[in-house]
Amino acid sequence: MNDLKKFESIVQKLLKKHNIKIIRRSVNSGAAYVPERKVIIPKITNIHQFLICIHEIGHIINNWSYNKMSKHRCEFLTEKWTLQQARKYKLDKHYPTELEMYSKIAKRYVVNCCHNNHKKIPSYVMNWIKAKPSIHAEL
Ligand SMILES: [Zn+2]
Repeated sequence: MNDLKKFESIVQKLLKKHNIKIIRRSVNSGAAYVPERKVIIPKITNIHQFLICIHEIGHIINNWSYNKMSKHRCEFLTEKWTLQQARKYKLDKHYPTELEMYSKIAKRYVVNCCHNNHKKIPSYVMNWIKAKPSIHAEL
C-alpha cells in the first residue's frame, strides 16, 4: 500500500471510530461542523491534504469549536494537535519538508486569526511560533 492510500485509510478509520460523516471531499480546504459531527475534507493526493483532514477531524474529536472559545484559541489548539498527530504518524521522519511547510502555514493561519480579534498576539501563541525547530518542539 502506498503512503497516500495508508493516510486515506487512517482518515477513514478515524471517521468511523468517532462517528463523523463527510459532507463532501474538497481540493485544498476543509471545514468542521462540530455539533453535527460532519466535515468537508480534501481528497488526499499529498501530505498537506492529509493534514487538513486530520485538522478537521481534530476539531470534532476534541470538541473544539467557535461556540466554546475564541477562533484563534480554537485554531491554535487544533493546529498544535494536528502537528502532534503528524509526529505520531512519523511525518517528521518521512516527510520533513512537507510537515515543515504545513507547520509554517498553520502558524501563519493562527496568527491571522489573532489579528482578526486582537491587536496583540497572546503569549501562548508567540511561544509556539518561536519554538524551533517547530516540528520537533515539545507541545
Ligand atoms: Zn480549524
